[in-house]
Amino acid sequence: MQENRLVLITGATSGIGAATARLLARHGFRLILCGRRAHRLENLQEELGGLTPLKTLCFDITRREEVEAAYNSLPPEWQKVDVLINNAGNAHGLDLIHQGQWADWEAMIDLNLKGLLYITRLVVPGMVERGRGHVINLGSIAGQDPYPGGNVYGATKAAVDMLTRGMRMDLYDKGVKVSVIQPGMVKTEFSLVRFKGDEARARAVYEGCDPLLPEDVADLILYMLQAPDRVNLAEVLILPKTQASVRLIAKR
Ligand code: NAP
Repeated sequence: MQENRLVLITGATSGIGAATARLLARHGFRLILCGRRAHRLENLQEELGGLTPLKTLCFDITRREEVEAAYNSLPPEWQKVDVLINNAGNAHGLDLIHQGQWADWEAMIDLNLKGLLYITRLVVPGMVERGRGHVINLGSIAGQDPYPGGNVYGATKAAVDMLTRGMRMDLYDKGVKVSVIQPGMVKTEFSLVRFKGDEARARAVYEGCDPLLPEDVADLILYMLQAPDRVNLAEVLILPKTQASVRLIAKR
């Protein structure tokens, strides 16, 4: 497989997206890195720009016009994306259903589902035209295994699973692979976002656990990209050794 494929990663400014950007840059993939935090994108440009051709796009994926404007600002050669990693996503809040906040629910649906669709709709037509491409969606164990307070987040991730299967049916005969990764617990900024910047509460999530690191998921993504073209790792659940379900986590 060519290692100079052009990979667009959403949510590249932290966690799984940033680790994937670093790993793929070292392997010579050309990169388009996306996120809202401009200074982090600038830092990535500085850190990785010497390793591989790289562009950054700063936009809010929940705003369709912004997504379109950012993508359309790319030179035509940079719009020929070979791999789309639909990684941007977060949980907002952990409220029980009767106490949930509208703003949290809307943020998760707009980000995890609508944002994924906005960028996919822009990138995938070119893949179909060229008869090749790979879309990797970031789902979650939470899309299969519900937990108290995980209601809307889990629903958006279940939707990502179903969307992945539907996309595969639309694209399997057009040269485009569609895969989903369902991680268990990964130590990223995920909990900090979920608890709205409450560092103590976010830290407590991982205390005494041995969660996955974002680099572990990046390794999986590289493995998926390096597999022979005939192979599609279509649905991959990746867990820490010490996790058996969302809530069944062995503590030290
Ligand atoms: P993270 O460290 O919080 O990273 C989330 C990324 O999404 C950031 O780069 C953030 O960038 C981007 N993002 C958030 N809102 C955005 C918006 N409105 N527009 C554009 N970009 C936005 O979390 P992570 O753990 O790496 O999460 C990556 C994916 O893995 C998500 O889809 C998540 O649901 C999934 N996942 C995570 C875990 C886990 O335990 N960590 C488990 C299962 C699945 P900006 O803030 O710069 O925009």
